[in-house]
Amino acid sequence: MSWKKLTVITCILFFFAALPLPGPAEPAAAPLRLETGDPPLVALTFDDGPRGATTGPLLDGLALREVPATFFLVGERIQGNEELIRRMALDGHQIGVHTYGHVILKSLSRQDFDLQVGKTRALLTDVLGEGEFWLRPPYGMIDRTDAQWAGSPLVLWSVDPEDWKDSDVDRIVSAVLEHVGDGDIILMHDIFHSSVDAALRVVDALLSQGYCFVTVEQLMEERQLTPENGVQYRRCPPA
Ligand code: ZN
Repeated sequence: MSWKKLTVITCILFFFAALPLPGPAEPAAAPLRLETGDPPLVALTFDDGPRGATTGPLLDGLALREVPATFFLVGERIQGNEELIRRMALDGHQIGVHTYGHVILKSLSRQDFDLQVGKTRALLTDVLGEGEFWLRPPYGMIDRTDAQWAGSPLVLWSVDPEDWKDSDVDRIVSAVLEHVGDGDIILMHDIFHSSVDAALRVVDALLSQGYCFVTVEQLMEERQLTPENGVQYRRCPPA
């Protein structure tokens, strides 16, 4: 399975019971449809954090723009970043799991799977209280058996600018803007300064094009947002 193939996977795998887990080149679910009159929606997602030096400025930039995002956290980065994670939640971002040690979720024993996913969920519960904490498997790789243990929706992506490949902000921004459309899930990494700069430029560009930013969970609610406690951004361009 190559990175190139992973980049074209669309976009959400729902509960394992309903999965046929796809091969890498097959869409797992139909893209969300834009209904007439609805603004285009997009979900910005960040993997591999948190990292104070970069996630902090990203949260500042997102808050300034009132834009929600979704963060898939690496468990071993949670300790020492508790305040940052609490701020994510308070700012209205969705928080999920990206395993404890950024491992490939294939051929793991149940015990090892729980050490990667269950342990990370437990750490997040300690910081944030009870939550579902959806799972994004590192590299988008997971086998059917491990998927059955996920206990939450699995989230992949549909637009991948490969922001880890270099620190060329212009290239990363262009790679997103050339491929993004309604219902897309953009994959980025909040551990790089260049990714933070690029993400905020993407936000400004897409807001100016009429996009609304939502979390992945909000996207899956098919534009029916249900504000609960706390901040629930649904950032759209000014009318
Ligand atoms: Zn990752």
